[in-house]
Amino acid sequence: STPLLEIQDLVVHFETEDGCVQAVNGLSFTLGREKTLGLVGETGAGKTTTAMSILNLIPNPPGKIKSGKIFVDGHNVLEMTDAELQTMRGNDVAMIFQDPMTALNPVLTIGEQIAESIRLHQNVNKVQAMEQAQEMLKLVGIAPSRAFDYPHQFSGGMRQRVVIAIALACSPKLLIADEPTTALDVTIQAQVLDLMQDLIVKSQMSMLLITHDLGVVAEVCDDVAVMYAGRIVEIGSTEEVFNHTLHPYTEGLFDSLPNLKEQGEDLVPIQGMMPDPMDLPSGCAFAPRCPYAVDVCHESVPSLTNRGGTHAVACHGYQQDPNFTLRRNR
Ligand code: SF4
Repeated sequence: STPLLEIQDLVVHFETEDGCVQAVNGLSFTLGREKTLGLVGETGAGKTTTAMSILNLIPNPPGKIKSGKIFVDGHNVLEMTDAELQTMRGNDVAMIFQDPMTALNPVLTIGEQIAESIRLHQNVNKVQAMEQAQEMLKLVGIAPSRAFDYPHQFSGGMRQRVVIAIALACSPKLLIADEPTTALDVTIQAQVLDLMQDLIVKSQMSMLLITHDLGVVAEVCDDVAVMYAGRIVEIGSTEEVFNHTLHPYTEGLFDSLPNLKEQGEDLVPIQGMMPDPMDLPSGCAFAPRCPYAVDVCHESVPSLTNRGGTHAVACHGYQQDPNFTLRRNR
């Protein structure tokens, strides 16, 4: 069957007064049905631009999808009419963001807001919609009686639960979650992630989870794609990527992650900074920071190459030296 989401060779740039921001530079991946894919990388890697492109929400100008195709359930989002886009955004794809407050209307009760979302997608009256809204609240672990409270009466974690309830009210096939737990404190993060995972399995959805945190991916995702400077540098099952890391940048992410380190090992931040997206280096964009870089790395962009299973990496090291291995795997 057709994959739920398929992105082919996506290029998205933003024209600014200072120059052209090359946010996404030839990105391809597929997401199957009832699967969760973590899209990982530092701020500025192009993760959110990718998410906005899937909904065809890149503001033009200054943004422009220069090329590529994005299929949701077999239909190219970039060729849809406005009416088709509206239907897709409501029925097939829902998105939740880092800051729940921006997604909530401060002057409506949360019950009203969930009910409104339900009524956009189902032919039910106000009373029935409010009953369903209270059911949704129960599902996300909030007492139904709280349907009559306003967003400011809830904590950050509770608000994010409300946002999840609104997103799920239209039974989307695909949930795009952009740093959904980043603004929450650690214990609440874990609860909200557990809840999301539970609901995704129950409602047979797929999820694209955007995060800078490999720990979150380990908790929730079947597969992981690591992004750097607008490209995927490594993709595979979570197990493959965690247990047999192939890209030097992914290794760097692991080394800088406190909760995944063995006790007693030092945390090592990745040296240097992300390249300026207005002035990307020629060759591998990670070369200026890469401890394994050789000459060819500064000259040509490595392409994503399969290394067995579903695991692929974009790194010259493996072509240059058949015995190339990362420190982490030695
Ligand atoms: Fe490092 Fe070269 Fe691989 Fe880029 S292509 S990650 S610079 S070894």
